[in-house]
Amino acid sequence: MSTTPPEVMISEDEIRQRVNELAEQISGDYADKGTIVLVGVLKGSFIFLADLSRRLSIPRTIEFIAVSSYGNSSIQSGAVRLVMDVRGNIEGKHVLIVEDIVDTGHTLHYLIGMMASHGPASIKTCALLHKTDSTQIDVPLDYVGFSIRDEWVVGYGLDYAERDRTLPYIGIVHPDDRD
Ligand code: 5GP
Repeated sequence: MSTTPPEVMISEDEIRQRVNELAEQISGDYADKGTIVLVGVLKGSFIFLADLSRRLSIPRTIEFIAVSSYGNSSIQSGAVRLVMDVRGNIEGKHVLIVEDIVDTGHTLHYLIGMMASHGPASIKTCALLHKTDSTQIDVPLDYVGFSIRDEWVVGYGLDYAERDRTLPYIGIVHPDDRD
């Protein structure tokens, strides 16, 4: 296993600035809608959600949902399984799903369906990262932090085999550095 830190793709400063912009945009869009429910997708979104939620200027509550993909962790088979549903009642509420990264789109597609089954007033989506060349299924993305190329990225909540989640920047794990 290599001990070289992952190469920087998006710096801490760039993330901070973009999260501020997203928070401002979301706060504006929901200004007259009352309290919104931010639904963070575990585990990868926890840092993004923490930063984004604290920068919003609108009333908000927090829920978490957890899913897992069948099969190898770095190859998406398209089959998604619910591990933990939201605890609070989101019926009639404005829901914003907060994802770390959208790759093929299967996870977010599944999550939108799951959330819809709870009967919210609206569902929008926010992803920090979007791998634009990997799309297999089109999902509505209302807010995107950064569009990125198809590399395995870690940091700011994202991991490779549970490593590097707490890196302050988004880094690239090259195939040679994987074990
Ligand atoms: P999708 O269903 O859109 O293909 O994949 C979404 C999920 O795959 C993400 O929530 C994340 O868990 C995982 N994923 C996809 N690409 C990456 C990546 O580059 N790095 C990490 N850490 N997770 C990824």
